Amino acid sequence: METSRREFIKTTFCATCSAMLFPWEHAWAKEGFSPADAHVKEAYFYSKLGDNTVQCGTCPHECVVTPGKRGRCRTKANIGGKLYTISYANPCTVHVDPVEKKPLLHFYPGTKAFSLAVAGCNFHCLNCQNWEISQTSPDKTRNYNILPEKIVSMASEYNCKSIAYTYSEATTFFEYMVDISGRAKKEGIKNIWVSNAYIRQPALKRLCEVIDAASVNLKSFSDKIYRDLNGGHLEPVLETFKTLHERGIWMEIINLVIPTYTDDMEIIKKMCAWIVENLGTSYPLHFSRFFPQYKLVHLPPTPVEVLEQAKEVATKEGLHHVYLGNVAGGCDKTLCPNCKETVIERRGYTILTNKIEDGKCPSCKTSINGRW
Ligand code: SF4
Repeated sequence: METSRREFIKTTFCATCSAMLFPWEHAWAKEGFSPADAHVKEAYFYSKLGDNTVQCGTCPHECVVTPGKRGRCRTKANIGGKLYTISYANPCTVHVDPVEKKPLLHFYPGTKAFSLAVAGCNFHCLNCQNWEISQTSPDKTRNYNILPEKIVSMASEYNCKSIAYTYSEATTFFEYMVDISGRAKKEGIKNIWVSNAYIRQPALKRLCEVIDAASVNLKSFSDKIYRDLNGGHLEPVLETFKTLHERGIWMEIINLVIPTYTDDMEIIKKMCAWIVENLGTSYPLHFSRFFPQYKLVHLPPTPVEVLEQAKEVATKEGLHHVYLGNVAGGCDKTLCPNCKETVIERRGYTILTNKIEDGKCPSCKTSINGRW
């Protein structure tokens, strides 16, 4: 099957943002699927329930899918009593990004991440900034044909330290991500999972065998908000954080502060206390500024003072590295948690200075947590 897929041929880059400008090689839009299709692969986690009905085991929605139907993320289809992903080797977006854009500030700063997405998501966030690709399916987007081995060779060719599965929800192209990651790992290329953390434990543990870092969203610390804003639940997300921590995966936690939804300082305080108690004090926490998007265009942008208040709450709870995303200067400095020396200085995504030596502050020799 794989040899019948067309090879990716030519790449150029935008001079200003370094986005890859590929000629659209393949516009894939069709009715129905066959297991023989190049972008269809049997799902790695599912069970058969009888009567040709299957249950997906990738994420906590645990969709029961009858023949001819799809799961909630639109990327898993029941074809003849088996569950298939239809999001394999058909990314709709491929870029080379600074790793700081993921955002990961303590993971090989100043390096490039080969970044890709396949359409689809298992959440339906009212504020989604990438809804054009997340709230649709891979048969509705214009895609490239890029096999896992080609992704790895392109990442290497463009001198990328890592490959990031990002922009949409990587869990919904789980099989493609795992296959690329396994190959990349063998080549010494790191793998970054950018995610809402809504994944079942067996799939997560399989993923942890091949990834190195995660940029994970903790949307709020309220199950009600998860249900109303995102279409999920809090508890499985918290389990994901604990597993990543136990498995030694570097992570940075993203919390988008949305007016009237996730700007309650009492809930933010509880969230920070949970992080400190369960994950420790050294994973960076990014409070990100909301701008009106998608179904929340009636809300104002988050006032910067609210983000600063959240940062103060998190710092008081004991977190060592708290950043403000989408705020000018919010990520400009990484300080030593002990002597407060500036160990990394940035302007936007550019590293101006990095004084960390052997993972330590050059002044007081305190370890700065991260991968350097
Ligand atoms: S990955 Fe998709 S099909 Fe599978 S359980 Fe989650 S939403 Fe349902």
